[in-house]
Amino acid sequence: MTAPHPDAPVIGLDLGGTKIAAALVGSDGTVLARHTLPTPATRGAEEVLDALAEAAREVWAPGTTAIGVAAAGVIDPVTGTVTSATDTIRGWAGTALATGLATRTGLPVACDNDVRAAAATEPDGPDDDGTLLYAAVGTGVGGAVAAANRMLHGAAGIAGHLGHLPSPEADGLPCTCGATGHLEAVAAGPAITALCARLGGEPADRLQAVAERAALGDPHATAAITLGARATGRVLGGLANALGPHHVVVAGGVPRIGALYWDALCAAFAAELMPPLHGLRPRPPRGGADAAVLGAAALPRTLPLHKPATTGVPS
Ligand SMILES: [Zn+2]
Repeated sequence: MTAPHPDAPVIGLDLGGTKIAAALVGSDGTVLARHTLPTPATRGAEEVLDALAEAAREVWAPGTTAIGVAAAGVIDPVTGTVTSATDTIRGWAGTALATGLATRTGLPVACDNDVRAAAATEPDGPDDDGTLLYAAVGTGVGGAVAAANRMLHGAAGIAGHLGHLPSPEADGLPCTCGATGHLEAVAAGPAITALCARLGGEPADRLQAVAERAALGDPHATAAITLGARATGRVLGGLANALGPHHVVVAGGVPRIGALYWDALCAAFAAELMPPLHGLRPRPPRGGADAAVLGAAALPRTLPLHKPATTGVPS
């Protein structure tokens, strides 16, 4: 297993439920080319792999040595497969992501969960070996933990799934994983939207509508957002006590709904901290819109590279 040449460009692919973002990234982190196309999510895993290969070809240039793929779901970088996933992409769980893409492109492929890939861009450069606690709160609640310059992957690639920690605020609520009482069931965007209706508010089809009502003083919308934020803050505060992070980052679409959410999260976080951690506060991610593809392009430097499948009769 040979690492790509340090000066050669690498292709980063960010696979989401609705679109695929591709970038050719130079050794200094400069984006040299980019392309996006829709994810054929309803057409199954083989067509999604074809679309990833097409996106890679659109940005490919002579000298490209490897592809890094950041994808939703539980991804095992060692086997290069999707350990488990929701049905956002039909038939995605069990897909041989890395080998399937390597075979289609002829380039070696490293892969990881999209949240971990983005989290890896947060430390202050390669010399920052501080512990990182990273949460991503959106349609689900994901996360990543890094220590001593190493991203924690854990058994079957499961490490960092912060949304499946028990939360008192979620007591009795069914979680997407099949258990009850997990953080995601009260803190994800759809969970906050549903909570607003359960508290007696007008049903809304998306979180932004709840946020707009809260800004106008609606008590049900305000209560739902505050509860989701507080639940996340408490879990992160507890994790901070357990891990002693130097950086706590809260990313994703939900924290961007405004100060009501962010302030409630930070207050609940601070209330959980043991005295030596006083002063530690969560911050938004530094990475901009390119964090996912830059994180993906960095994966071949640290993770196993999977080669194209060999065909023909074994000797
Ligand atoms: Zn769960």
